[in-house]
Amino acid sequence: MNDTIASIATSLGVGAISIIRVSGNDSISIVNKLFQGHDLEKVESHTIHYGYIKDKENIIDEVLVSVMKSPKTYTMEDVVEINCHGGIATTNKVLELLLLNGCRLAEPGEFTKRAFLNGRIDLVEAEAVSDLINSETELERKVAINGIKGNISSLIKKLRDELIKIISNIEVNIDYPEYQDIYEVTINDIREKIPLIKNELEEIVENYEQSKLIHEGIKVAIIGRPNVGKSSLLNKLLNSEKAIVTDIPGTTRDIVEGIMYLDGVKLNIIDTAGIRETDDIVEKIGVNKSIETIESANLVLLLLNNNEELTEEDKILIDKTKYKTTIYVVNKNDLETKIKLDKNLSNVISINTLDNKEIKILKEKIRDLFQLDKINNSDFNYITNLRQINKIKECLKIISDIEEGINDDLELDMLEMDLREIWEQLGFITGDSYDEELLDDLFKNFCVGK
Ligand code: GDP
Repeated sequence: MNDTIASIATSLGVGAISIIRVSGNDSISIVNKLFQGHDLEKVESHTIHYGYIKDKENIIDEVLVSVMKSPKTYTMEDVVEINCHGGIATTNKVLELLLLNGCRLAEPGEFTKRAFLNGRIDLVEAEAVSDLINSETELERKVAINGIKGNISSLIKKLRDELIKIISNIEVNIDYPEYQDIYEVTINDIREKIPLIKNELEEIVENYEQSKLIHEGIKVAIIGRPNVGKSSLLNKLLNSEKAIVTDIPGTTRDIVEGIMYLDGVKLNIIDTAGIRETDDIVEKIGVNKSIETIESANLVLLLLNNNEELTEEDKILIDKTKYKTTIYVVNKNDLETKIKLDKNLSNVISINTLDNKEIKILKEKIRDLFQLDKINNSDFNYITNLRQINKIKECLKIISDIEEGINDDLELDMLEMDLREIWEQLGFITGDSYDEELLDDLFKNFCVGK
């Protein structure tokens, strides 16, 4: 950590500006060697300076250099950022000069790793930085920025504080039984406290399930036998002519897919080939893929034709989707109703694909089923990271051990060991406890320059 690191912080390519970031004890003196302008070693912190980067007598670029002195910087070390003209040749040349003059090329995520190791941010905040950079949607951005602001970290820290109070109290009771003025923790105290902690942890896991929609979106499969209007529905949803609509059964031979956003949540919509027994090889491939698609979808839209009686194929599809989240879309309601559906079938809607207003009915149903309004009205304080959520789940397992222990009237010192284990697991989330392997693993997924 004592060396000075440098890397290109912007994406490498043709652009107006590239930023090269340098961090470490020697960052100011190294850049100063290459800079023609003010003496950077004498300037105030958090100032920006116009000048040139020179390689001996040759001017390499006209630049603006920001000087930020420790500790109020991203890494808490001295940081210099060189704003040079964009483009591969200039940016690489400036970086090369920095490396020749004493910098080491930063590893992916190394600036953020230093911010963590120097105590400016915790691991939750560090991981949120990566999430923010990788955010594709507004909802993902909101969740990530809350992580960076430390909302999740505070939640975890609050739980750890509550635990350590009980743990230390038990320890004092055990180690110094003669102290009369210290509150004596009883198994009843733990019996009261554990459900509160358990509730908070369970809520985090529940919210995680919900927040998965934000990151992963909803995989929607449109299925139904040929000619019921699958491609027409997909086109209406996507407002395009992606799928070819014809009235010859079996035209959608392969899978056509598209993406739309509903209340900020990504819907990956897949129009499958008409599912039916077929001898046609090309179509058969499509049919097999359709069945796989149903299995991996989060939501199935099973289209049925309002203008026809239910066929055997329809009944098989209704049966196949019994255990999936399915909306039964009775299409072509502009035509005479001939279909008769079991009254017990839930999530049935009636629409046609000719009128845009009808599509709203389907969108409303999807909103309802996935509680999209709940996501949009939430505080966006979600744990969305698998590593972190696995630790929470481990804590919940230990809590069930404690619950058993309470029922079996286990000694307090045995319960205390479990409480301490929860406290430690929570510490792994924020990085209060960590090992090198974890850090390497975590930061290698960052982009270079962050
Ligand atoms: P797919 O084979 O399930 O993809 O069905 P298509 O989307 O290709 O539609 C088959 C035929 O039904 C086409 O001629 C469409 O124009 C027609 N169609 C689709 N939706 C409706 C609807 O809501 N009402 C009516 N009357 N016709 C529709």
